Formats: sequence, C-alpha cells, structure tokens
Amino acid sequence: MVHHSLIDWQEGLSSGDLSSLFLSMGCLDRIEALDPHLKATIYLNRARSLAIAKSSDDRLRTGQRGPMLGIPVVLKDNLNWDGTATSQGSKISKNYCSPYSATVVRRLLEAGAVPVAKANMDEFAMGSSGEHSVFGVTRNPWDPSRVPGGSSSGSIVAVAAGFAPFALGTDTGGSVRLPAAFCNVTALRPTYGVLSRFGITSMASSLDQVGPVARSAQDLAMGFSVMTGRDPLDSTSLDLHGSERLANLTPGNLKGLRIGLPKEYFEDGIDPEVRLVLGTALQRLASEGAELVDVSLPYTRYAIETYYVICTSEVSSNMSRFDGVRFGLRKESSSLHGMMSCTREEGFGTEVKRRILLGAFCLSKGYYEAYYAKALKARTLLAQDFERVFREVDCVLTPVSPTVAFKIGAKTQDPLSMYMADIFTVTPSLAALPCLSIPAGFATVPDDPGKRLPVGMQLIGPPLSDVKLLEWAHAFQQVTDHHLQTPPLES
Ligand code: GLN
Repeated sequence: MVHHSLIDWQEGLSSGDLSSLFLSMGCLDRIEALDPHLKATIYLNRARSLAIAKSSDDRLRTGQRGPMLGIPVVLKDNLNWDGTATSQGSKISKNYCSPYSATVVRRLLEAGAVPVAKANMDEFAMGSSGEHSVFGVTRNPWDPSRVPGGSSSGSIVAVAAGFAPFALGTDTGGSVRLPAAFCNVTALRPTYGVLSRFGITSMASSLDQVGPVARSAQDLAMGFSVMTGRDPLDSTSLDLHGSERLANLTPGNLKGLRIGLPKEYFEDGIDPEVRLVLGTALQRLASEGAELVDVSLPYTRYAIETYYVICTSEVSSNMSRFDGVRFGLRKESSSLHGMMSCTREEGFGTEVKRRILLGAFCLSKGYYEAYYAKALKARTLLAQDFERVFREVDCVLTPVSPTVAFKIGAKTQDPLSMYMADIFTVTPSLAALPCLSIPAGFATVPDDPGKRLPVGMQLIGPPLSDVKLLEWAHAFQQVTDHHLQTPPLES
C-alpha cells in the first residue's frame, strides 16, 4: 500500500475504492511509526490533516475529480502554510507561526491535496546533507548511518520512505536534486519563475525555486500540474507552455533524442561505481534510440565559486530580517544593537553565520567589484555556455553527484568539501534552467561490502522545457525499474 504510486491512489480515489481519510491516516501512522528514527518530519497536526482529508472525500463524493484531490503531501518547512509553524529548521524561527500560505501551498490545498507533515531541512535551506537542522539530523532510509542529502532532506526522505507520494522541497543550488539522487526519488527544479516563490522563505532570491518531489516523473507531473500558472504576487513568475500535458503525462520519444554529455562533468573525481551506473543508464538510453553527443561547457569550472559568491551575498541580505524586532527569537539587551546581535548570535547556526559573513564581505565596499560583480559576469558566461550547446542538442545529461550518499559527519568539519557536493547542480541553477534528478541505478560501496546505494542522473533542458524533461524521464522510467525500488524499512 505505502509504496503505491500517486496515480494508483488517484484511480482508487476516483473509483471510490479508496478514501482520502484512509490514505491520510495510513501516512500519518507510518510517519509516527518510522520517523522517530529517520527525523524527516518536524510538525504534524493529525486533526487538521484529517479534517482536510474529510473535505476532499466530500468533494470526491459530489463527483469532483482532479490529479491531487485527496492525495497526502509533505511540505518543506520553509513553505508557509497558514496556522502552522514555519521554522526553516532554525532556532531563530522555531516558534514562528505562518499567518498566510505560500501560493504553491494554497494551490495544492485548493486542488484537494492533504498536507500530512512539514518536513525537516537544513537551516534556512543552507546545506547539502540534512545535518544542519535544530531538529536533528535526517537519516537516509537506504542506510541510516548516511546522510539523505540536503537541504530538502525531510521532503525527499518522506517520499522515499513512503510517508506520502508527493512532497515539496526548494532548490537553490541543488537542494531537491542532490537528496533525490541519494534516496532514489525523482525531483524537479523548474525553470526559474515557473513556480511562484510567494510565501517561501527567501534564501538567495535570484536562485530559489520550489521543487516538486515524487517517486516517478509521472507522479511528479500530477502534483506539478496544479501549481503552475502566473502568480501576481511574484513578479518573476511565468506561465509554463505545455503545462496542460502534465496531468496526463505521456512518455516522450527517446528515438532520435539528442542528449549532450558535457565532458567537464564526466572528468576525474567521479567515483568509479557511480560512473559505472551512469554508463549503463546511458547505454539504455542509446538502445532506445537516443543519440549521445559529446559537448563542452567550459565555464563550468567557475561554477562553485560563482554560486557561493552570489548565494552568500543574497543570503546576507535576506537574513537581515531576522533581527529580533518583528518575529522569531528575541534576546533582550540594554541597547537595540545589543539585542540584535545577541538574538542573531543565539538564533543562527554555524553554517548560516558563515554565509552571512562571507556574503557581507563580498558585498562590502572595495570588494564588491572584485567578487560580486565578477560573479555576475561569470554567471552570464555560464548561461551562454548552455545557450550554445542547446543549439546542437535537446537536453544535457550529467551526474547529480560524484559520489553516493556519504556517512553522517563525514563533511561537517570541512565546509569546502560539503560545498563541492553541489558541483554538478549549481550550474543549471545559475543559468535558470529546468533540471530533473532521476534514479539511474544502484552502485556497490567499496567500504561497505554487500551494500548497494542509489545513484541519480540529471537531465537539464532549455528554458521552459520542463514538460518535455518530464516526458523524456517518463519514457526512461517505462523501460527501467530503478525508481520502483524501495529502501529496506521494517514496514
Ligand atoms: N547545497 C547548496 C547550498 O548549500 C544548495 C542549497 C539549496 O539548494 N537550498 O547552497
């Protein structure tokens, strides 16, 4: 039951064989049984979730139908849902209660989806592992001694562990794609602007996007379909062409599909086991008729530096609102300045403080031109690399991560090696392109004989090709079963 697809559940709800109340109760029970160990969720309100499920059942009984009507979902805790805590995994906002809902949350609720939990996350979405949360470390359901990836750790684990068939995360530089690869689920970072950012806590505003997560591209498309469409509350929001194809996704044509393989993404540094899995997936695509084309994205080598200058600069500005004055934690002191600095000292974790300092430095007089302005130029060059390549190919395929999920604690003392985990995901974020992380197979782990851990691959498309990416991924998932494998949990 728990690992059935969203589409199966939707059929059961439409035919009357299932009720939303039954499904939502099942999800809540599973969370209560398994989550004390996995720590994927941080806020449940059983009564409220079940009341929503009942009203979705009423709508179903009156004959209403819809892709998400009655479907349980999990929301990352940086998405406002009115009347619930929105903590962002931080002590500074642990007790903040949202007075309104994010547009994406409102659209899901209007479509009849049933939020069953808010999900744990790296503090303010800064992190790649799921280890930086005031609520504790989220564990990878495939191996609890390993990280699930971050920052949308809880949303991804919720789907992988069968707590809900659909979840929302956010993705600034890889935060749904990396954990999706580590936990064997499918996650989309849409073209910048396709999902409204209204009501999500800003981290780096020119990079932040909401990221839908599900086990398959087909399930993901159903949830995505009810959230697209321009939002007057977000001036950067866009309409997505072809979005009417999402609710009934059909497999795209792999025959003749020109897939670019950028040589910079397949150089040294990728674990041999990961390389092997990707090689097999590529052969599979080729045997379905796809054409594999060698391409080059030379500015990729500047991507990590560029990302961490732009990201930290925007972070330092966005975090200034957490000052103890309007909301969240407040530490009293004899002066206003003292109150603000005591509040921020006590309320923010190490990684957030590190980024505020780095960003403030990059933006300061005398360094702005050398760092921030230069990074903006590099960002343009990175985007132009892709524009050139998309004249030759339909999409680009890369690894999501050079390794499988690493051990908890392995990178926490070394921020640079943590940042390098994002090496393959930050570039399309900087270029504002849509990209999808999909299960590619399983790798053996040399230091852990007998263990097999998931590997993901990233499909990157030109602007607004989100629907096509999902159609191609759906075609791949029709001929492979990696995405159907589930982690070894006790129930
Ligand atoms: N891991 C990246 C970072 O820490 C990406 C985070 C994100 O996408 N929210 O910046």
